[in-house]
Amino acid sequence: MEQNDPVDVLVIGAGFAGIYAVHAVREAGFTVRCLEAGAGVGGTWYFNRYPGARCDVESIDYSYSFDDVLQQEWKWSERYATQPEILAYINHVVERFGLHRDIRLNCPVVAAHFDEHVTMWRVRAESGEEHSARYLFCATGSLSAVNKPDIPGIDRFRGRMIHTARWPEEGTGFEGMRVGVIGTGSSGIQSIPILAREAEHLTVFQRTPNWSVPAFNRPLTEADQTRIREEYPRRRRVSRASSGGSVHVPQPKNAADCTPSEREQALERGWRTGGVLFGKTFPDQYTNLAANGYASRFAERKIRAVIDDPATADILIPKNQPIGAKRICTDSGYYETFNRADVSLVDLRAEPIRAVTETGIETDRSRFELDVLVFATGFDAMTGALNRIDLRGAGGRRIQDAWQDGPVTYLGYQVPAFPNLFLLNGPGSPSVLANMVLTSEAQVDWLVTLLRTARQQGTKRIEARSDAAEKWTTRIDEAAEETIFVHTDSWYLGSNIAGKPRRFMMYPLGLGNYRKSCDEIAENDYEGFMFDGH
Ligand code: NAP
Repeated sequence: MEQNDPVDVLVIGAGFAGIYAVHAVREAGFTVRCLEAGAGVGGTWYFNRYPGARCDVESIDYSYSFDDVLQQEWKWSERYATQPEILAYINHVVERFGLHRDIRLNCPVVAAHFDEHVTMWRVRAESGEEHSARYLFCATGSLSAVNKPDIPGIDRFRGRMIHTARWPEEGTGFEGMRVGVIGTGSSGIQSIPILAREAEHLTVFQRTPNWSVPAFNRPLTEADQTRIREEYPRRRRVSRASSGGSVHVPQPKNAADCTPSEREQALERGWRTGGVLFGKTFPDQYTNLAANGYASRFAERKIRAVIDDPATADILIPKNQPIGAKRICTDSGYYETFNRADVSLVDLRAEPIRAVTETGIETDRSRFELDVLVFATGFDAMTGALNRIDLRGAGGRRIQDAWQDGPVTYLGYQVPAFPNLFLLNGPGSPSVLANMVLTSEAQVDWLVTLLRTARQQGTKRIEARSDAAEKWTTRIDEAAEETIFVHTDSWYLGSNIAGKPRRFMMYPLGLGNYRKSCDEIAENDYEGFMFDGH
């Protein structure tokens, strides 16, 4: 095939989802090409190479399940894998399945237009090169469009500025330097303990505190490896049917139905489990504010116990923020870092940043002289990566216009009036609320079956009906209203980006239910989709 010959499926993005899409689509006998913006594969795990970056889902779960030999052979070294280990794994998979030949690196996509006359997507990369395909899969990442804050004077700073999601491949080395970090989400909380050890002085600028639970990370032993290999088939079966894509089960009783001592024991066990799963200690912790209150107060006690200065603890502990309403951070020594003499915490609620100056940061009260400014300021999540592409469907409809009141999709896969465009981990899918590797596999498998069906029927054009997409999106809105997620501003709701419409963007009812709904729709002759306009 000539490099730019039309293909059946063009995939944008070579992260976990895009890579599996290349493999599965190819196995199903379609021609495929993947365009990746980075100089290497891995998506999130290629770009987020800041010190301390590791996954907050256990490595044995956060890995592909589609090939048993692969999962039996690969050995994870720690309970939570580091970014370099995950990236090495992704490269291994790409090599093992010969996927390189269909992946083009350094190829950021700037435009994708649907050509109705020939029912093809026309895609343009930044370099000007053009590609066309019958189907377009956007595996562009839920958290890939970097949010660099618009702080007055930011371009005047003469020191070094780095966003955690654009960490240089050659690393940094901040010995002897005064480093400032803006942002205390997962990226900040993971990197701060390491940056504190490296820098001469670290200043953390916190606007909103976040809940963080220790990872209790540890190396995996040979005995663990044997157990994991034996457990895998059951583990994967249970995970696929579960809510979060893991084998975790909350303790059986709702929080209010436990005796005080049962509650305390459950919370202690939950805490020891580590990280995000503490959020699922009680079955009703995500839906009942009172149940959540028990967990939040327990977490507060644990955090206070490790911070020497009570006034610092007051600043670091979230207020009026149910634990888990924002993604719980998973840390290794975060709160303890503030006991160090060479670390300062600046509460931006008490003294907002006035400006970045040539030599540091000026707040309403003080000036901070800095050599390096690290932005751990997150992403324009879920929709940002797509909105940054000039993406146009039938009749030239722009994605930004289609989503001006917030994203609307059918099953998270399709946007009405964007025929043959399929999103992976898009708005309306479980995405970041479940194990993203298993979710990606489930989504790709479902789409491949859809494409096979279309091939058998001779269908050229697949498009979601608007009423089906509205209904799906309303179902998500209503389900989200029943959860704690709507009680705190967060990127889940788009509220970290100025002007972004407020809408809970993920399917909140769990991976198992999501898969069931998608399968029922497929069995029901793909109800809600139009094939060649019908
Ligand atoms: P984030 O959770 O959105 O946190 C961004 C931080 O930057 C917040 O503390 C925010 O404060 C602050 N910020 C933004 N603009 C600011 C400004 N102008 N002035 C001062 N502070 C500002 O981003 P993230 O930490 O990159 O994490 C995003 C998501 O990525 C996580 O929730 C998680 O899902 C994923 N992630 C996962 C891992 C992991 O697996 N371990 C690691 C990293 C990230 P406000 O809250 O006040 O806006």
